Amino acid sequence: MKKNVNNDGLYSIVYRREPLGKKCRCDVLLDGFLWRELVEIDPSELPRNPGVYVIRVFEYGDPIDELIRGFKSFISKTRWIELSRYVESRLKRLYRIGECPLIYIGSANSIRSRYLDLAGKRHTIFFPVLILLYGGWKLDYGFKTTQNKDEAEMLEEELKNKYKSIHGTLPALVEK
Ligand SMILES: [Zn+2]
Repeated sequence: MKKNVNNDGLYSIVYRREPLGKKCRCDVLLDGFLWRELVEIDPSELPRNPGVYVIRVFEYGDPIDELIRGFKSFISKTRWIELSRYVESRLKRLYRIGECPLIYIGSANSIRSRYLDLAGKRHTIFFPVLILLYGGWKLDYGFKTTQNKDEAEMLEEELKNKYKSIHGTLPALVEK
């Protein structure tokens, strides 16, 4: 297959040059963008370069108010106060979606790592914790401060090693 080169010199055989869905007056802003359905993107095919990224609706689904009601009830079942507060403050934005399909414009130091952030990867245990809380588990959180980052990393290492020598394995949600 022939490789395409966009204005930034990025090679791509997996991206479209045009977005899907209805046209909008703001499409003039999107010259030179490369496109792929958000859920299908393989991050290893995204550039590590800085850049701008956008999100555009190409098919409208369930009504926003219905979706928000359902999701709020999911989140509230976790009893996680800070998560509920955060989710609520973010979901309000959904009500602003109107005629224009372009719903987000952002910039990033690395297009790839920002995409990973977008996929909920800011913390590897976010989803496991969310699911446990949703399932009625109750979790305690403890912490201990150190003088600096090196000391904290050393302490983490030490604690993991000790744990491992006791149980023969790392704690369940720690990446192996
Ligand atoms: Zn528009």
